[in-house]
Amino acid sequence: MNIILLGPPGAGKGTQAAMLVEERDMIQLSTGDMLREAKNSGTEMGKRVAEVMDSGGLVTDEIVIGLIREKLEGDKKGGFIFDGFPRTLAQADALAALLEEQGETLDAVIEMQVDDDVLVERILGRAAEAVAAGGTARADDNEESLKVRLMAYYKQTSPLIGYYHAKGQLVSIDGLGKIDEVKASIAKVLG
Ligand code: ADP
Repeated sequence: MNIILLGPPGAGKGTQAAMLVEERDMIQLSTGDMLREAKNSGTEMGKRVAEVMDSGGLVTDEIVIGLIREKLEGDKKGGFIFDGFPRTLAQADALAALLEEQGETLDAVIEMQVDDDVLVERILGRAAEAVAAGGTARADDNEESLKVRLMAYYKQTSPLIGYYHAKGQLVSIDGLGKIDEVKASIAKVLG
């Protein structure tokens, strides 16, 4: 079973994906994690994407599609969870083509709905916790980059809601509840 977790930054996609990995042997494909890894490893690609990521904008479709393509060719285990990908209509079309090439299907697109003020609270809270624990916050977890990230979501990613709705693949759930409540909503969709 292959699914997309769709939602704005701070919706809780990564938290839910991690539990699905544990409990259903699925593979989490987070382009955000892959890009942060590239950024930290200092590769040429990492250097190119660092500035864009830190400001809160989107990295080029070409780069993220390339990252996903590589992963789809590997072991598929209990299926893929796409987390933070696709983020543009071009990425959504590319994903459909890549899945078809692999003889795979997209089984559900789960939209996690959360209010904007909660997102800002969660992300700035996460940044403050990291600092309080003696670490450093993510370079894009600050008020200014967060505004850019939310705008990128509404302008470039939210059209995917209509796109997948039209394809009959969209299921929207309430992402505002406790972690276990959201988990239960997702479990209902997965069956
Ligand atoms: P969040 O969902 O909290 O915004 P992510 O970890 O998913 O965080 O993404 C962090 C950053 O990585 C994004 O703001 C963007 O710069 C880049 N990024 C991640 N995934 C994509 C993607 N599919 N397309 C373009 N840029 C991406």
